[in-house]
Amino acid sequence: MKEIYMDNNATTKVDEAVFEEMRPYFCDLYGNPSSMHFFGGQVQKKVDEARNRVANLLGASPEEIVFTACGTESDNAAIRSAIEVHPERRHIITTRVEHPAVLTLCRNLSKRGYRVTELNVDGEGRLDLNELRAAVDEDTAIVSVMWANNETGVVFPIEEVGKIVKEKGKGAFFHTDAVQAVGKIPINMAASTVDMLSISGHKLHAPKGIGVLYVRKGVPFRPFMVGGHQEHNRRAGTENTAAIIALGKACELAGQWMEDENTRVKAMRDRLQTTLLELIPRSRINGGQAERLPNTLSIAFEFVEGEAILMLLSEKGICASSGSACTSGSLEPSHVLRAMGVPFTCAHGSIRFSLSRFNTDEDIETIIRELPPVVRRLREMSPFGREFLNA
Ligand code: PLP
Repeated sequence: MKEIYMDNNATTKVDEAVFEEMRPYFCDLYGNPSSMHFFGGQVQKKVDEARNRVANLLGASPEEIVFTACGTESDNAAIRSAIEVHPERRHIITTRVEHPAVLTLCRNLSKRGYRVTELNVDGEGRLDLNELRAAVDEDTAIVSVMWANNETGVVFPIEEVGKIVKEKGKGAFFHTDAVQAVGKIPINMAASTVDMLSISGHKLHAPKGIGVLYVRKGVPFRPFMVGGHQEHNRRAGTENTAAIIALGKACELAGQWMEDENTRVKAMRDRLQTTLLELIPRSRINGGQAERLPNTLSIAFEFVEGEAILMLLSEKGICASSGSACTSGSLEPSHVLRAMGVPFTCAHGSIRFSLSRFNTDEDIETIIRELPPVVRRLREMSPFGREFLNA
């Protein structure tokens, strides 16, 4: 069975060219870039090249790139740095729809006495900038607002957010979790209000276990990983050289594929969306009226469980994901869909397709063929579904 992989917001295939780029740095060129000898030096050169490649994709300078182990670490490093730099400020602002990498940390900090404001979103997943404007004050240490949502693909107006933070925060830092945005939509730090930005390699065809924190030049930074002098004292620990080199290549390729992502990949997503809405009654798009990433489709089917759809699709080789997380034995709809006020019946029946450049029209046609009968079959098995089908 050939798999159809449409769960790219969870993780992506390592591009073969990326793998080839990193391959020599395991068994042959395994030197430590901090070593004085030529053997370490040649690795250091490749790490420098990777830093340049990441910086190019972001419109940043190489000195602003700090390699970390993952997106989660980058998010933690940014927020922890801000509260260290501003110990007198006790207010943190984020949104209700952030990834747990940000949300869990903020909620933990609220238990340690920080005032945490979680901004609301509307039914389409959009931020209310007036709520932000009212919330930011001179007690705010950091505002952390994601660039694009991993579940719905909804894109936040990051530069407008940044303007408000700068205007009202008087020194408050602005961090964005851009883990889902980088490589999918253009980002230019040279003309941005963002102070710190997180990236994760495995979301853009690099391996797992590598991330970046962009730290704008001049922004004070206190590392929470301390030890050696790596990354100009901003992240201690011997560099994961092969993965850094891989991420550099992945960023170079992401720049080259950006147009494809926003034309061909988007057209595939749009065809899938339009056709499923046509073929499956009582279906709706989560965040459909908002600006979204070109690759993401979160679609809700009433009267069915998303997990049941996923299991049946999985039997046919189709990999997607659901909007629910299984917590303590009960199926809780995702915090993102709940924050959007998506009715329970829809939130439970939501699934997410997230495409990449490796998907094809044939993949889309297969899903269009296989999914409608799956939803119908599940509706026939549920009392509300049967009632709806018989009405
Ligand atoms: N932030 C967002 C928006 C994500 O989607 C993810 C991963 O799903 C992360 C952070 C965490 O990244 P990592 O898996 O590299 O820790």
